[in-house]
Amino acid sequence: MTPVSRRRLLTGTAAAVGATALVGPAEAVASGSPARTRQIRALTVAPTDVRYSGLTSGQNQLFSSRPEAIRLPNSTAQVVAAVQEAVTAGKRISVRGGGHCYENFVDHPDVKVIIDMSAMRAVAHDARMRAFSVEGGATLGEMYQVMFRQWGVTLPGGACYSVGVGGHVTGGGYGNLSRLHGLVVDYLYAVEVVVVDPDGRARSVIATREADDPNRDLWWAHTGGGGGTFGVVTRYWFRSPTATGTDPSTLLPAPPSDVLVTWLQWPWSRLNEAAFTRLIHNYGLWNEQNSSPTSPYTGLTARLEPGPKTAGSVLLAVQMDTAVPNAPGSSPTSWPPSTTAWG
Ligand SMILES: Cc1cc2nc3c(=O)[nH]c(=O)nc-3n(C[C@H](O)[C@H](O)[C@H](O)COP(=O)(O)OP(=O)(O)OC[C@H]3O[C@@H](n4cnc5c(N)ncnc54)[C@H](O)[C@@H]3O)c2cc1C
Repeated sequence: MTPVSRRRLLTGTAAAVGATALVGPAEAVASGSPARTRQIRALTVAPTDVRYSGLTSGQNQLFSSRPEAIRLPNSTAQVVAAVQEAVTAGKRISVRGGGHCYENFVDHPDVKVIIDMSAMRAVAHDARMRAFSVEGGATLGEMYQVMFRQWGVTLPGGACYSVGVGGHVTGGGYGNLSRLHGLVVDYLYAVEVVVVDPDGRARSVIATREADDPNRDLWWAHTGGGGGTFGVVTRYWFRSPTATGTDPSTLLPAPPSDVLVTWLQWPWSRLNEAAFTRLIHNYGLWNEQNSSPTSPYTGLTARLEPGPKTAGSVLLAVQMDTAVPNAPGSSPTSWPPSTTAWG
C-alpha cells in the first residue's frame, strides 16, 4: 500500500466530489457568532505576534508547532482563501478546532500554516435545512448550552465541555447519553467542507446524507473518518434520522431532566492483579448483560478510567437518568451501593 500523507488526502478528496461550491443558508437564530468582517483574508498571527505562543499548542502541551502563520478565519469564504493561499504556496496545513487532539496531528513540526477555527463557533437552528447548524470551531459546551437552553434538545457527545466539535464529530462522538441515543454522527445530517480539487483549487462543498446527494460519500467520510483528513469542516448540521416535522424541539433528542451522578475510586495501591482483573471483568460483564435496548439500565452510563499508576487510582464515573423506571431514590449517594459491587 502506498503511504498517503494527511495533506495529500486533504488535497485529493475533491476528486470524489462532483458538486460546485455552495454557500451556507441563512441562520434563523444564531448564538456564539463573533463579529464578522466582510474582508476576504483571514486574520493572520505571525511568530512575532504576542498571540503566537498561545496558538501553537493545544490542550496536550506535549506537542507544539512552529508554523509560519496561524490563520483565524471568520467565514467559509475566508477558509477557502486561506486554504487556497497555503496550497498554492505548497505549504502544509493543519486545522485546529477545540485543541483536544490526542496526537500531533495539528501541532506537527512539518506544519507551515495552522487554520484555527475558533472564530467560527455559531450554533443555530437552520429552518431551511430543518436541522441545527454548528460551526466547526464551536466547543461541545457551547453547542450543548445553546441547543438545550433555546430548544430543550441535545446530542449524545462527550462530557468534556472544552472538546471541539471539529475533531469530536468527525471521530464519531460518544458520551454519557450514548447508551440511550447512540453516537453524535447518528444525527449528522450534513457537513460544509472546504476541499481542494486535484488541480489545486480550494472550494466549499455541502454534503448531506440524502440518498441522491452526489456528495454523500463526503458526508459518510465525516461519520467516523477522523478530523483533518478530508478537508476543513466549516459547519455541521444535525437532525435525527427519524425526525418528521419542522418544530426544532423535535429534531434532536431531549436530555434527561435530572440525572444521578457518582464517582467510585479504587487506589492502585489497593489493587493487586487479581482484584484489577475482577474489576475489569465485572465491568465488562455488566455492560454485556445490559447491552440490550430493552435493558432497564439504558439510562445508566458508567465510564471506567484506569489512569496511569502515577495518577493514583482507577475511576468509575456513573450517570443515571432519574426518569428510568426503578432508578434509585433521589440521593446521588444511594447508587451504586458500594465499590464492592464492581470490584
Ligand atoms: C479531555 C478529553 C476528553 C475527551 N472526552 C471524549 C468523550 O467523552 N467522548 C469522545 O468521543 N471523545 C472524547 N475525547 C476525544 C476527542 O473527541 C478528540 O480528541 C477530538 O478529536 C478532539 O477534537 P478537537 O477539535 O477538540 O481537537 P483538535 O486538536 O482541534 O483537532 C483534533 C483533530 O481534528 C481535526 N479538526 C479539528 N477541527 C476540525 C475542523 N473544523 N475541520 C476538519 N478537521 C478538524 C484536527 O486537524 C485534528 O486532526 C476527549 C479528549 C480529551 C482530550
